[in-house]
Amino acid sequence: MVKICCIGAGYVGGPTMAVIALKCPDIEVVVVDISKPRIEAWNSDTLPIYEPGLDDVVKQCRGKNLFFSTDVEKHVAEADIIFVSVNTPTKTRGLGAGKAADLTYWESAARMIADVSKSDKIVVEKSTVPVKTAEAIEKILTHNSKGINYQILSNPEFLAEGTAIEDLFKPDRVLIGGRETPEGRKAVQALKDVYAHWVPEDRILTTNLWSAELSKLAANAFLAQRISSVNAISALCEATGANVSEVAYAVGKDTRIGPKFLNASVGFGGSCFQKDILNLVYICECNGLPEVANYWKQVIKINDYQKSRFVNRVVSSMFNTVAGKKIAVLGFAFKKDTGDTRETPAIDVCKGLLGDKAQISIYDPQVTEDQIQRDLAMNKAPTVCAS
Ligand code: NAD
Repeated sequence: MVKICCIGAGYVGGPTMAVIALKCPDIEVVVVDISKPRIEAWNSDTLPIYEPGLDDVVKQCRGKNLFFSTDVEKHVAEADIIFVSVNTPTKTRGLGAGKAADLTYWESAARMIADVSKSDKIVVEKSTVPVKTAEAIEKILTHNSKGINYQILSNPEFLAEGTAIEDLFKPDRVLIGGRETPEGRKAVQALKDVYAHWVPEDRILTTNLWSAELSKLAANAFLAQRISSVNAISALCEATGANVSEVAYAVGKDTRIGPKFLNASVGFGGSCFQKDILNLVYICECNGLPEVANYWKQVIKINDYQKSRFVNRVVSSMFNTVAGKKIAVLGFAFKKDTGDTRETPAIDVCKGLLGDKAQISIYDPQVTEDQIQRDLAMNKAPTVCAS
């Protein structure tokens, strides 16, 4: 029986492994994490994340061929294929701070794999990482490989929170990047065999390692760029009397453009878009491409502008002050059908309104009161109705 271990039981590691376990009853899947509360929650009736359909998938295979554990080293040592799905946030200090990806968690996972492995391993980059990360990981793993063969694959995840299970069941594509050597091709085939349990062959794309790593950053940059494009047009609509919904509909009818990701909004949020664009900007700068870096920076600038423009419009529409006025905020997570509040535009909007001394009440059925208080971290707490 093939054994898979996934390091990182978060928004990506948990759902992706649950779907692999469901679709591949002949494979044993263990998801490990250093966070005890997270693993306890995965083993309980209240999963640590909310995703439509996730409970059902986990219930069907947990205890059969799907397990959650904090015994990271044991399960890594026993696995044939190791997915690494740890967080890769933006660096907050040192070289590249504010832009580069912080690979601390990845590095410590790689060092641990090198320490505990006693048999050949396929190590899969599931986290979103900068292009060329596999080269650095290879160096760590092969530094003192004790005769063990490591094959590194890039298999970035394209699921969207809120529709993760649907996306995993029917992915637009699964992307696998590997070395163009006989061992590399064998490893790519082994991972293809896993996905082939349910993904049609023409949706499984194979590329070289660097193309796969870069495709994920590029895909997120393109998606965010569409949101910033329509939001930039929304500002012009408001200034001229055009209706942004009508404009977006007319624009999206062009088959070369298409209708998706053209809804004007208060701006994009979530843990990925901004960090991945910043990372792309940093990589461009490091490769001597400042003009390209500036192009992508603009996507974030428009997003920030849209959030502050929204707050300013609310305030100016209420006689230029919201002091003491009661405002209801419906929804706090960064999008519907998730409880994830990482980088949600609601934080900037609420802080902007609280800054002008509004009295706000927040309602979101998927977000806890504690989480909202932590995210806003203001002295004067808003009224929170979490459920
Ligand atoms: P997350 O923070 O929810 O989960 C990461 C988990 O890794 C945490 O539970 C953490 O405790 C664990 N971890 C960190 N270091 C560890 C170690 N050494 N050993 C064991 N566990 C460790 O993050 P996420 O949202 O699941 O994202 C993971 C990666 O996937 C990121 O690179 C992200 O950019 C990428 N991604 C995220 C999404 C998304 O929608 N959230 C989609 C596609 C790709």
